[in-house]
Amino acid sequence: MKTTERRPPRRPRAGEVRLEGQPVSPGVAIGQATVAHEPAPPPVDMARRDCDPAHERTRLHDAIGRSVAQLGRLHDRLALLPEDGQVEIGSLLEVYRRMLGPSRLRRGIEARLEHGMLAEAAVMQETEALAALMLAPPGRPAPQGEDAVAARRRAGEFREIGRRLVRNLSGTPYRSFSTLPDGAILVAEQLRPADAALIDPSRIAAVVTEEGGSTGHTAILLRALGIPAVLAAHGLLAQVRRRTRLVVDGTTGHVVIRPSSRTAAAARVDVAAYARERQMLGRLRRLPARLSSGEVLTLQANLEIPAELPMVAQSGAAGIGLLRSEFLFMNTDTLPDEARQEAIYLPLIEAMAGDPVTIRVVDWGSEKNSDALSRVGIGNGGDVNPALGVRGIRLLLQHRALLETQFAAILRAAHAGPVRVLLPMVSGVGELRAARDIYARVGRRLRRRGVEIPDPLPPLGIMIETPAAALMADVLAQEAEFLAIGTNDLTMYALAADRAAADVAALYDPLHPAVLRLVRMTADAGLRQRRPVSVCGELASDPLAVPLLVGLGVRSFSMHASAVPRVKRAIRAAAMDDCRRMACRALEATDGEEVRTMLATYTHDLRHPGDG
Ligand code: PEP
Ligand code: MG
Repeated sequence: MKTTERRPPRRPRAGEVRLEGQPVSPGVAIGQATVAHEPAPPPVDMARRDCDPAHERTRLHDAIGRSVAQLGRLHDRLALLPEDGQVEIGSLLEVYRRMLGPSRLRRGIEARLEHGMLAEAAVMQETEALAALMLAPPGRPAPQGEDAVAARRRAGEFREIGRRLVRNLSGTPYRSFSTLPDGAILVAEQLRPADAALIDPSRIAAVVTEEGGSTGHTAILLRALGIPAVLAAHGLLAQVRRRTRLVVDGTTGHVVIRPSSRTAAAARVDVAAYARERQMLGRLRRLPARLSSGEVLTLQANLEIPAELPMVAQSGAAGIGLLRSEFLFMNTDTLPDEARQEAIYLPLIEAMAGDPVTIRVVDWGSEKNSDALSRVGIGNGGDVNPALGVRGIRLLLQHRALLETQFAAILRAAHAGPVRVLLPMVSGVGELRAARDIYARVGRRLRRRGVEIPDPLPPLGIMIETPAAALMADVLAQEAEFLAIGTNDLTMYALAADRAAADVAALYDPLHPAVLRLVRMTADAGLRQRRPVSVCGELASDPLAVPLLVGLGVRSFSMHASAVPRVKRAIRAAAMDDCRRMACRALEATDGEEVRTMLATYTHDLRHPGDG
């Protein structure tokens, strides 16, 4: 299928027009538009109930086969894409592949075929029903905040796989992106994630779409591919034709149609500045995370799914400071057994080539739910307030077989490189002791069976995510071998403000002095007991906040891989004395706003030392 272009309009050229869309991938581009249209599949008779189920099943299975093959071809392209791009695309393809396997979706479609429905209609109804279930789970409040974002993304995944199946059932082709002119700005009504995966980022200057939002996979893919992009620029297609000149600013969301020479000149300056910034961040990868006063810190990456690994390697992170192993239970009907888990950990540890990997045992409960666990009767359905109920280590200690399996899998894989094991949501020393007993017992059992595991066992540490853990950090640090401060939950529990609720978002402030005091207590306890202390919540990825955390005594940070270069830049510009001064002032501040203003002033003074 070729990219089709609309005919040029028969109307006079208008002047400069500005649109505002959602900025989803930073960077500025100037270029000519190329408009990609896609043929719609033929209409589907949704009412038919007289189809032969066996025939429709065969058609469905053929379409599934074609879809799997297409996804396979997309997967083969992974190696051609920049490393960051491989991350999003790889994980998304895995989600699609599972949906096409023996999934709830497939079972649902097949059940509808038994009622004589057309395969296209069954696919559309089932994917829509599952998408609706994600957006409004029955018997539960509608997802809010981060949960709502995840629900929308998941709903989008169902709809997308549905569209692919319907196209393959009806033989409607996809548009091709291989014929796009070099340096063009791709303009489309909407762009699916799989389309984004087909774009060669070295040839496309930017992407603008009429529809779409900032949190979907397409947005994430475009960011990972480093293509400046603005989505949801309403009114775009009515104004833009082939070769229309555009300026796209993926940082602000501005799209200028037919820019004046002044606008174009300003955009060229922005393009050059952005290129310089990227180059500089790229160079930082090989430099140490050293303060300007000489002290060397550790920057590691948080990993949520194995597909993010290439990005970790590219970021210059010195290992994985937090592997959220919840991904093991995502999109799956069954609990992964010891061998399956080992097979997942092993390549991760090997890939880090001697850099440490900190594996956190599953943190289920609260806002994180799993079909696989509910299926075997484990969940938080009964808790009045799930964030204060059975989650993290509490859940694992109630269902010890889960913990034993995971410990055993980690220990089996641990011969491949340095590993640390992390316990989530600890609120007292009893939980640490109970988990450590199980850990030691699993270790002994494996040794008895002749399995080669490290001696002594890999360090066992705890997350400091509850105010109780921070306040008792001196006691906990005597028995935990390392402490990892989870500022996301610590903020939630310290300020009694749900991290995912929009209506208390203004109260949820990780820079609140109450949170900072808990961080300080933890860092002090680690120092006294000679236990490493890291911060692995979102705060660690904020270049403004990290010098303050250094001043509070933290020497190790773990963050999303994409944040590592900017945090490193902030560290290399900071001096220990300044960090300590900031920390003293922040601990005495009255609220988070005061801390934020102080940090902004400090950063401004660093950048413009001559001012005021
Ligand atoms: C945290 O709470 O800060 C943390 C790192 O854990 P999660 O975000 O996975 O709850
Ligand atoms: Mg947490």
